[in-house]
Amino acid sequence: MLFLQLAECFEKLEATTKRLEMFNILSDFFKKVEKDEIDKVIYFCEEQIMPPFKGIEIGMAEKMVEKAISKATGKSIKEVEESYKKLGDLGLASEQLLKKKQVTLIKLSPPSIKEVYEILLKIAKTTGEGSVDKKIDLLAGLLTRVSAKEAKYIVRFVLGRLRLGIGDPTIMDSLSQAIVGDRSLRSEIERAYNLCSDLGLVAKVLFEKGPKALKQFKVQVGLPIRMALAERLASAKEIIKKIGKCAAETKYDGLRLAIHKDDGKVEIFSRNQERMTHMFPEIVKAAKEQIKANKAIIEGEAVAFNDETNEFYPFQVTITRKRKYEVAERSKEFPLVLFAFDLLYKDGKDFTKEAYVKRREELEKTIKKGKTIRLAEKIVTDDPEELEKFFELNIERGTEGIVAKRLDAPYQAGARNFNWIKLKRSYKGELQDTVDVVIVGYFKGKGLRARLGIGALLACVYDDEEDTFKTIAKVGSGLSEENWIKLRELLDKTKVSKKPARVDSLIKPDVWTEPKYVFTVMADEITHSPVHTAGRKGNKPGFALRFPRIQGWIRDKKPEDATTVKEITEMFEMQKRVKES
Ligand code: AMP
Repeated sequence: MLFLQLAECFEKLEATTKRLEMFNILSDFFKKVEKDEIDKVIYFCEEQIMPPFKGIEIGMAEKMVEKAISKATGKSIKEVEESYKKLGDLGLASEQLLKKKQVTLIKLSPPSIKEVYEILLKIAKTTGEGSVDKKIDLLAGLLTRVSAKEAKYIVRFVLGRLRLGIGDPTIMDSLSQAIVGDRSLRSEIERAYNLCSDLGLVAKVLFEKGPKALKQFKVQVGLPIRMALAERLASAKEIIKKIGKCAAETKYDGLRLAIHKDDGKVEIFSRNQERMTHMFPEIVKAAKEQIKANKAIIEGEAVAFNDETNEFYPFQVTITRKRKYEVAERSKEFPLVLFAFDLLYKDGKDFTKEAYVKRREELEKTIKKGKTIRLAEKIVTDDPEELEKFFELNIERGTEGIVAKRLDAPYQAGARNFNWIKLKRSYKGELQDTVDVVIVGYFKGKGLRARLGIGALLACVYDDEEDTFKTIAKVGSGLSEENWIKLRELLDKTKVSKKPARVDSLIKPDVWTEPKYVFTVMADEITHSPVHTAGRKGNKPGFALRFPRIQGWIRDKKPEDATTVKEITEMFEMQKRVKES
């Protein structure tokens, strides 16, 4: 299929803000896509050249793209810059400049989706000395072969600014519709995706081998698994009432990591399925020495730990280990301990279907005693008082609380349910837990703040049933002046002229931005609100956060990993119960 057809599909998607229409456009398009190009189409829709865990990025900054446009159009860099300034979008600038040129251009061989993809992949893989010029030449060469419309989308894709407003849930629904004529295949597609974190691969298998082949997806060493998540309850009593006898583990406040050991090779993935192997050399070394298996997948929480005092460093210290440079120095200064809490695979056997008890038993057999990898502390009980004591003990030790685990539950990749229940410190009169919100716009600010050009953020939670972002708060505190300015600069790079397609809001901020950045906020409580859309149904008001304030800085979460509307509803109910008691 020609890339032009994909560009035309993007054009249609861009023209609508209605989710149902997007779903129809996308599923109609998928029906026409060939088996050997569907994976590439999916990556284009997801705005990535490959899934994040492959660690391959295009790596072209604006200035490089400007040079490529200049080369392809014969215009000077200054002219390209001027056009960019005027239009505010390098994609539009390239479209305009190419339009002018193409009056005289004879199009020889318009490229297919596959060809465009291959060239972009080549750009991504070009590294080392002289790579800047090579990348520019490759992109310029591609731009001379395409129409103005195609160029617009290629340039936006290269810069990571395609902003189609379609999330994975919509893509999965559309794939199902294209293959079986309804959404019934969605859960199978999602299961496969949760196990391999590569939607392109799932789509390819589905197109080539049919729906039955989806069942064959298994955990595989080297392919990150979308992690299981925890629900929350308000007390030890509620937990025992809900799941009965359970295992309670310390809830360590660090970085969740998946360790994939493949004989002598070790890979480490984050909760976002990003490859982070190079950041944690001490864990790589320990995995080789302490994991008694040729092949295994183990999950745990890595925390900076002071062996001298036997104390955890605060999260702010652990997070400094997430860095690209000076890794060796930092790993000596603040070595991490990985508290292992799950085992998903070992030497040919998929353990995700096994009960917690069995997985934990195998984990204990698999980890050799040592300094860096240790087992997460746990108790097994059906007594609320004992559970409460273990919780208090953990709070005293400076951890976040506990995670209670249902003894007979399998490991459900990507799912948040009551197989795992977290119990966190309760702040008197405040919310039991923080909320992760996605920023979708900002207000310019009055008085003192006007000077910074930013006064408050419009914050949303995620509605995972509708694949939309719903407003829950205007957040105006918690950042230093310096960070407000830094954030405004970042947000301005994702500025859009109208409300993004997936955002559901009754409030109009001064500046709309693409849903991209996730922040953790603390608030006093959740209240009902007529102005916010989170949880709003017909005449029923939505929810709002009272006195929200930002904690820390941008989180390493995708917008779809933000707190969901369902969780907010549960937190609201939980708050009511706590107040009543
Ligand atoms: P939260 O991020 O508040 O939703 O809590 C869930 C997170 O707690 C997980 O994603 C892990 O990163 C972390 N965690 C810490 N200790 C454990 C444990 N023993 N079992 C499961 N998750 C844990």
